[in-house]
Amino acid sequence: MILAVDIGGSFFRYKFNGIYEKFESKNLNIIEKISELIDKFNPQAVGISFAGQVNEGKILSSPNINIKPVDLNKIIKIPFVLENDLNCAASAESRYFDKKYLIALYSGTGLGAGIIENGKIIRGYSNLAGEIGHIPYKKTSFKCSCGKNNCLEFFASGSGIERWKNLGIDILKTEYIKALRFGIGVLSSLFNPEIIVLGGGVIIHNEWIVEKIKKNLKNYVPNFDKFELKITKLKDASLSGAEILAKELL
Ligand SMILES: [Zn+2]
Repeated sequence: MILAVDIGGSFFRYKFNGIYEKFESKNLNIIEKISELIDKFNPQAVGISFAGQVNEGKILSSPNINIKPVDLNKIIKIPFVLENDLNCAASAESRYFDKKYLIALYSGTGLGAGIIENGKIIRGYSNLAGEIGHIPYKKTSFKCSCGKNNCLEFFASGSGIERWKNLGIDILKTEYIKALRFGIGVLSSLFNPEIIVLGGGVIIHNEWIVEKIKKNLKNYVPNFDKFELKITKLKDASLSGAEILAKELL
């Protein structure tokens, strides 16, 4: 049996053999918790989704999770896979929609993408491919955790919407739509997916966004007639994706 774990900015979730639990991640010792779950359930393999930068079994950094860099290869002694949350989500979406050329573009606190090409995750040299939230878009007076002031995330994410709201400006029906459409255009031009699946808190709570983005989208997406834009149907996509990826180890 597989133990699947999702370490997010707000919550730590796991599932094992029909058991599902969710804790606030803020005051949790995440590594201790994973070790405890492995001892308790004795799984064949573990799949871990992490909302931050990971590479080759190492947790490197996260904008929203209080955790020091740690090499899980030294801690977990059974087969495991550690993957960025968007890559996990994209793996789950690829399974759900039965598509091998798919991008999951999630707009929650941040903006990020997981890219599946011919059924495989696109990683890049340091496993950072898909960090679309930080491509330069428009100059602002804000400063991003990445050090820049012009990130797409200032317009196309929940934290971006909040920043403008603090200035008395509501961007959801205007600049947000434009920025997300731009992001979709960039991803489709670079990777030519058959489908982009939108997810994340902002999208899930405002499903009308998808229809609005579709208007005028053909000016942004090459080969538009063979392209689909959908909204996620999955709850806990990254947790499901962690499970799917861990099963591949067996
Ligand atoms: Zn940035």
